[in-house]
Amino acid sequence: MKPYSFCPVCGTMLNRAMIDGRGRKICLSCSWVHYINPLPVAIAYTVNRNEELLVVRRAHEPAINEWSLPGGFLEAGESAEEGCLRELIEETSLEGEIDSLIGIYHRNVEPYGSLLVLAYRVVVDNDAISINHELFDAGFYPEHLMPEVRIPLHRTIMMDAALCESVQ
Ligand SMILES: [Zn+2]
Repeated sequence: MKPYSFCPVCGTMLNRAMIDGRGRKICLSCSWVHYINPLPVAIAYTVNRNEELLVVRRAHEPAINEWSLPGGFLEAGESAEEGCLRELIEETSLEGEIDSLIGIYHRNVEPYGSLLVLAYRVVVDNDAISINHELFDAGFYPEHLMPEVRIPLHRTIMMDAALCESVQ
C-alpha cells in the first residue's frame, strides 16, 4: 500500500509524529492518524479423498508462473473460512470444506506490504478442476509427483500441515 501524503479525510498535508511508540503520519487539522495494518489473506491447503494435495501455477504477480497453494485476500464482511473457500472456488471451481486451521503467519510481500496469512486445511470430495484467469495450471498430486513449490511461506505451510497430520 502506498503511504498517504495528504489526509484522506480533509485533504491537509500530513505531518510525522511519534504515536504509540511508532513514527506515523498524522493530520494536524483533523487528528486523523495513518495507521498501517496488515492485509488478511487466506490460503487453502486442499486435499482430495486420496490425500493428494492441490497445487496451482500462478498466472499473475507476485510469483507469476510459480507453483503455489491457492488463496487470496479476504473481503470485508466474510469470515476467514468463507474467504478461503471462496478463493478456492473462484480459482479452481472446487467446493471444499474447512478441516482445520494449520497456522497463522506474517509476511512482508511487495507490493502489498504487511500480510496476515491464515492457512486452512481444506478437503474436497469432487476433485474435478476448472481454473480461472488467475492460474495457468492446477492439479492434485501425491507427494512424490508434486511440482516444486518454491514460495517460502507456502513451503512452510506445507511442512506445518504435514506436522499437523503426523500428530493426529
Ligand atoms: Zn485531516
